[in-house]
Amino acid sequence: MSNVSFSFRGNNPVREAIHSVFLYYAIKNGLTMGIVNAGQLEIYDQIPAALREKVEDVVLNRNGDATEALLAIAEQFKGGGAVKEAETEEWRSYPVEKRLEHALVKGITTWIVEDTEACRQQCARPIEVIEGPLMNGMNVVGDLFGSGKMFLPQVVKSARVMKQAVAHLIPFIEEEKGDKPEAKGKILMATVKGDVHDIGKNIVGVVLGCNGYDIVDLGVMVPAEKILQVAREEKCDIIGLSGLITPSLDEMVHVAREMQRQDFHLPLMIGGATTSKAHTAVKIEPGYKNDAVVYVTDASRAVGVATQLLSKELKAGFVERTRVDYAEVRERTAARSNRAERLSYADAVKAKPVFDWATYQPAVPSFTGARLLEDIDLATLAEYIDWTPFFISWDLAGKYPRILQDEVVGEAATALFADAQAMLRKLIDEKLIKARAVFGFWPANQVDDDDIQLFDAQGEPLARLHHLRQQTIKPDGKPDLSLADFVAPHGSGLTDYIGGFITTAGIGAEELAKGYQDSGDDYNSIMVKALADRLAEACAEWLHEQVRKQHWGYACDEHLDNEGLIREQYRGIRPAPGYPACPDHTEKATLFALLDENNQSGVSLTEHFAMFPTAAVSGWYFAHPQAQYFAVGKVDKDQIDAYSARKGQEVRISERWLSPNLGYEPSV
Ligand code: SAH
Repeated sequence: MSNVSFSFRGNNPVREAIHSVFLYYAIKNGLTMGIVNAGQLEIYDQIPAALREKVEDVVLNRNGDATEALLAIAEQFKGGGAVKEAETEEWRSYPVEKRLEHALVKGITTWIVEDTEACRQQCARPIEVIEGPLMNGMNVVGDLFGSGKMFLPQVVKSARVMKQAVAHLIPFIEEEKGDKPEAKGKILMATVKGDVHDIGKNIVGVVLGCNGYDIVDLGVMVPAEKILQVAREEKCDIIGLSGLITPSLDEMVHVAREMQRQDFHLPLMIGGATTSKAHTAVKIEPGYKNDAVVYVTDASRAVGVATQLLSKELKAGFVERTRVDYAEVRERTAARSNRAERLSYADAVKAKPVFDWATYQPAVPSFTGARLLEDIDLATLAEYIDWTPFFISWDLAGKYPRILQDEVVGEAATALFADAQAMLRKLIDEKLIKARAVFGFWPANQVDDDDIQLFDAQGEPLARLHHLRQQTIKPDGKPDLSLADFVAPHGSGLTDYIGGFITTAGIGAEELAKGYQDSGDDYNSIMVKALADRLAEACAEWLHEQVRKQHWGYACDEHLDNEGLIREQYRGIRPAPGYPACPDHTEKATLFALLDENNQSGVSLTEHFAMFPTAAVSGWYFAHPQAQYFAVGKVDKDQIDAYSARKGQEVRISERWLSPNLGYEPSV
């Protein structure tokens, strides 16, 4: 390749074309690229032919005066907007099949019904529009996604175009009593019993759907019996299970065992935030021998996995490779847990951090008991949003705001962010969703090593929180932590306090998202859910700041910008039950009973302690200056015995809820 330096600044079609051609050949020639800003890539095939030729001359060093020739022609293509518009018109003059492909690849719905209708009139039968141009267009999308040239938000937008086209054709197909287009296979998707999170499941469903699979989506909180019954009735080819909270892991093990018991013979796909290859290999696969069990890392992998599982030629090899891989994972895991030594629980308690309670002055909150905040201003909350997790929910990796300029995902991230801002405005201006919170404080003391006793205003016992302690052997005399350490012990003579909160921005969100989904607009359905989640987290951040500065009032002179808040540069923590410092989800029952007896928050708990609406956050407040997040990690039977005794529940019940934390094999 010639060594030329380009001097086109800013976003313009010439520069994009150069980048695009450069990357195209680089990939073709197997080069690893670090120089081109792929965020600004035009899709290679869509660069105007005249421009492409001149750019290729330069990039491929095809003739001596290539650079001059490009500079000459570049004038015609410079100037952003006008050219974009010309391009817009240009694709409108393509043959109808190409127009459909362009609309699908670019996610443009403006003319899709018009173009679909034009195409239908050219075809002998309406089904041919789907089987021909539309499927071809979606194949292009699938290939671009598969090769990393398109990203999830763009694919979900393409799916929206496809749905609108198909929706236009369905009445014509039904009129001629024609067959629906043949699907590549039928995949049942469900969020398991006790869990309500479905952003991931919906995304995977959309991606599989636009790759020609028929999706039977059973929604959320689906019991094993229902999943298996429908799989049988609908003759599904694959079952896909999704879940976010840790109790869902056990539920998936249960579904797998049931599939074995009821003699199912079809592959099982596993996905969702807390799932992992290790859990799938160690806990799920051993329970289901009849067919494959495959962990799917993210939406972009789902199609590859489904294709191999349903291919006569590829399946055996794929399943065998997966089995071998998982067997290795099991061996490694077994070796590791044999190696891991822990302190006895008694010694771990002795290794707790030492605080000087004699000189400690607990911060006194301005009230005790619970309070409700209704209709919290969404515009205020929007300022507190941490955007990085928003991009993660769309499978775009990178930290905000840098992600907007990222070489690979920058363009997709920028477009997604613009759509998010527009939807956020709409949610706020049209008051489409509501945010609410309950929060409170109670006098509290640490008791019985790892419990926290709460008292009412009269000093009578009110409730008891149960915590777990790290049993890790630590270097340099570092302490083994329990959240109970951060509250003054009963014997100290101090009246300390603990707080709690529930925030939601999900009031109205589920309905709104469902409305979009029902109208074939998965993109905006997922967008609403993802934004409501962000606002609920933002509400937790905002409320925590109010608490520190005002209600608990120990940080009146704190001045942090949003970045500082996201980095938790303040005193105090708000650990959430189910998270690593307090992994027992069942403790949410105590939190909710204390704060929200009459369900004023509008947030309720499922039988596995997932919060519904999903756009909700809950947790405890600790004000101690040394309070910090940590992971309890693996615990031994001696601690589970003590914990069960304090909690007044059978050991096997504790073992069930804490199964991800057990450092031993419980006797069943
Ligand atoms: N800015 C992030 C905040 C959520 S993640 C967002 O908008 O998504 C951080 C929160 O997760 C904490 O506030 C706490 O509630 C919870 N958390 C994180 N680590 C934890 C741990 N080790 N134990 C308990 N809760 C934890």
